[in-house]
Amino acid sequence: MNVATRPAAAEGLDLQGWSKGLFIDGKWLEGEAGRRIPVVDPSTETLLAHVADAGLGDAAAAVDAAARAAPGWAATAPRKRSEILRRCFELMTERADVLARLISLENGKALRDARGEVAYAAEFFRWNAEEAVRIVGDFGMAPAGMNHIIVDYQPIGICVLITPWNFPAAMATRKIAPALAAGCTVVLKPATETPLTAYALAALYKEAGVPDGVVNVITTSSPGPVTTAMLGDPRVRKLSFTGSTGVGRTLLAEASKTVLSCSMELGGNAPLIVFDDADLDIAVEGAMVAKMRNAGEACTAANRLYVQSGIHDRFVAALTARMQGLVVGPGVDPATECGPMITAKAVSKIDRLVQDAVDRGAKVLCGGSVAAGTGFFYPPTVLADVPPDAQMAREEIFGPVAPVSRFETEDEVVARANDTEYGLAAYVFTRDIGRGLKVSRRIEAGMIALNRGLVSDPAAPFGGVKQSGLGREGGSHGVLEFTEPQYVAVTL
Ligand code: NAP
Repeated sequence: MNVATRPAAAEGLDLQGWSKGLFIDGKWLEGEAGRRIPVVDPSTETLLAHVADAGLGDAAAAVDAAARAAPGWAATAPRKRSEILRRCFELMTERADVLARLISLENGKALRDARGEVAYAAEFFRWNAEEAVRIVGDFGMAPAGMNHIIVDYQPIGICVLITPWNFPAAMATRKIAPALAAGCTVVLKPATETPLTAYALAALYKEAGVPDGVVNVITTSSPGPVTTAMLGDPRVRKLSFTGSTGVGRTLLAEASKTVLSCSMELGGNAPLIVFDDADLDIAVEGAMVAKMRNAGEACTAANRLYVQSGIHDRFVAALTARMQGLVVGPGVDPATECGPMITAKAVSKIDRLVQDAVDRGAKVLCGGSVAAGTGFFYPPTVLADVPPDAQMAREEIFGPVAPVSRFETEDEVVARANDTEYGLAAYVFTRDIGRGLKVSRRIEAGMIALNRGLVSDPAAPFGGVKQSGLGREGGSHGVLEFTEPQYVAVTL
C-alpha cells in the first residue's frame, strides 16, 4: 500500500483534526493503550489519517459517561431535545459539502452518492426532532371496568450502536437521532474503515448543544471483546446493530446473556422483477438506481434481476448500454459515477462470485474482470443467463454487478424471489399496479419498491424480515425502538 502521499482531494479537509481521539464525555481521549488505526482512501490506497484504538477500559469509560449523562438527558424537556436535534440537522445541511467529501474520501463512493447520503443522514435529525415531541402514551378504562390503564413510553436507557462502513453518516444518524429523541444516551462504535465521518459528526453534535456524555464514539481494532464487554454491562439496555447477518447472529447470541433489547439491520439479497408490461425506461432507470447507488455497496442493492421473456432482450440491451457508459473513478472526482469498493478483499469476493457464475454458464455482457491499477476498483458488470445455482443468487454481491435471469410466469418468479434466507428489499416493475401490489404481498421482504429503484426514506419504516433483521428504523416506528412502554394500573 502506498502511504507516501496525501490525496489532493483531501486539501481543505482537516482530516487529522477529526480524529483527535476517542469521543468520550464530550472530550477527545487518546485511548488507554495509545494504539492507532490507519484509515485508507480506497480510491488511491493512500493513508488519510489515524484514529485512536479503544480497549476495554475505554469502552467502560464510554459506558460510564453515557450512564452519568442518562438521567439529565431523560429529564430534558422533549421540546428542548427536539430543538437540539433540529440544530444537528441544520449544521449537517450547512456543512453538507465538507461532510460529503469526507465520506467520499474514506468510503470511496462517488461524490454525488455522498451528497445524497448527507441529505439522507441529516433528515433523520429533522424527522426525529419532530418525533421527540410526539411520543405519546395511552390512558383508558380497563375492559373489566375496575381500574384504568396508563401506558407511558420511557427511554429504554443506555444504548450501544454499531454501524457498517457503507453509509458512514446515515447508518449512525438513523440510530442516534431516534435514540436521543426518546431520551436515551449512546455509545457508537463505527466501522474501522470509515471512522472519520463518525468523529466529524460527534464534534458537530457537541456544537449543536448535545450535552457531554449523551453521545460517545469509540473506534477499536477489537470489536468482538470491546462489544462483549459493553453488552455485558448491566447498565446497557439496548443494542442497535447494522451490518452483516453473520456478525448479527454472533451479537444476538452475546446479547442473550443479558436479555438485551436488540434492533438488527442485517444483510440483503434483493430481487428486482421486471414484468413484460413494465415501462422499459422506468424499469432500466429503476434498476440502475437499485443496483448502482453506492456502486452496489448497499444492503438494499438489487442482487438478482428477474426479467420476463417478452421484455428480456430489450431490457438487457438497455441496461448493458447504461452500465457500460458509467464513469468509473475516484469518489471525490465530481465526474465519477462509480467509485471503488471499500477494500481489496471486497474486490476479490466480487471477482469470485462473477467467476463462479461464469463457470456455471452465465454470459458476460460488460465488465466481468478486475482491471490492473491503483485503488480497489471493479468495473460495472452485466451478466445474462445467470443460473439459480450460482453463488451470487445466495450471497450479497455488494458491488457493481447486475446478474440477470429470464422468467416466464408470476408464480415462478415469486418462488425464485423468496428462495433466500434474506428478506430486506425487493423491486417490482409493471404498469399493472394491481398486479404490483398483489405480487408485493407475496414477496417476503420488509420493503418493496414498486416502479422505482429507491426505498430508503427517513419517514418510512426501514427493515427486513427473515434473516435480514429485527425491528425498524425511521418512520414513527424508529423512535419506539428506543423506548419501553410502562403500564400503570390505577384505581381512580
Ligand atoms: P460487518 O462486517 O458485519 O460489520 C458491521 C459492524 O460490526 C462494524 O462496525 C464492525 O466493526 C462490527 N463488527 C464486526 N465484527 C464484530 C464483532 N464480533 N462484534 C461486534 N462488532 C463487530 O458488516 P460490514 O461489512 O461493515 O457492512 C456490510 C454489511 O452490512 C452487509 O451485509 C450489508 O447488507 C449490511 N448492511 C445492512 C443495512 C440494513 O439496514 N439492513 C444497512 C447497511 C449495511 P469493524 O469495522 O471493526 O469490523
